[in-house]
Amino acid sequence: RTVYVNGEYLPETEAKVSIFDRGFLMADAVYEVTSVLDGKLIDFDGHAVRLKRSLNELQMAEPCSMDELLEIHRKLVELNGIEEGLVYLQVTRGSDGDRDFVFPPADTKPTMVLFTQNKPGLADSEASRTGAKIISIEDIRWGRRDIKTTQLLYPSLGKMMAKAAGCDDAWMIEDGYVTEGTSNNAYFVKNGKIVTRPLSNDILHGITRKAVLRMAAEAQMEIEERLFTIDEAKEADEAFTTSASAFVMPVIEIDGVMLGDGTPGPIAKRLREIYLDESRKAAI
Ligand code: PMP
Repeated sequence: RTVYVNGEYLPETEAKVSIFDRGFLMADAVYEVTSVLDGKLIDFDGHAVRLKRSLNELQMAEPCSMDELLEIHRKLVELNGIEEGLVYLQVTRGSDGDRDFVFPPADTKPTMVLFTQNKPGLADSEASRTGAKIISIEDIRWGRRDIKTTQLLYPSLGKMMAKAAGCDDAWMIEDGYVTEGTSNNAYFVKNGKIVTRPLSNDILHGITRKAVLRMAAEAQMEIEERLFTIDEAKEADEAFTTSASAFVMPVIEIDGVMLGDGTPGPIAKRLREIYLDESRKAAI
């Protein structure tokens, strides 16, 4: 693979970042994952805007202009011949060559790395045709989940707990209400109405969430943004998640309770189709 590090395109084996980098020592870093279909970027602008917001919230410098960012994404997609896959981007606060809780001087150069992941069949994945089984776990993450930081240890543990239970993923619960999935936003459907948690500091403001809710509204589907419990979701007709890497993923089981007939629901399937179709047309 050819990867990008601080202005250079290099073979992945030659890419280097300092061991003092605050991304490495303190997870002082933000990231984005943008999907690629037909060799084109899906919702690049959405990801670029959210990146800017994450950097701003953490008083981190913008490493380059958004135009340059687009060029880097495109160049990596081209150099690596990606037709279907992902572009991963990470920006860290960098380092001034030592470990300290206090931020380094404001003129310290941020670190920016990007790499591609080739995922043939991403749009027509086996997992999306089967649907996902999920478990629920307590949400013990920090209070600023709206900032897309690389603090992914708990979501990673959650995914491992799901695997250990013979499932695919976990939804997290705080104060009795579902926040989101380990790496996706969560929804259920009851009597034709789509229910999902409203935006706040408690969840990531998913780029896919925004697009899917817009498309659902355009398709005259009913949407309610409110807090919901895992018990409501278990009694739902269907459920699904959204993320840039899995688009709309049907959920067929929650904590061992089968939803509907245990196959992907009609609304989740339709939204997946609409999302893929419209996103492909708008890809750049
Ligand atoms: N919530 C969390 C916790 C996530 O990690 C992600 C994906 N990174 C999402 C939601 C979905 O966001 P997006 O649609 O922008 O990929």
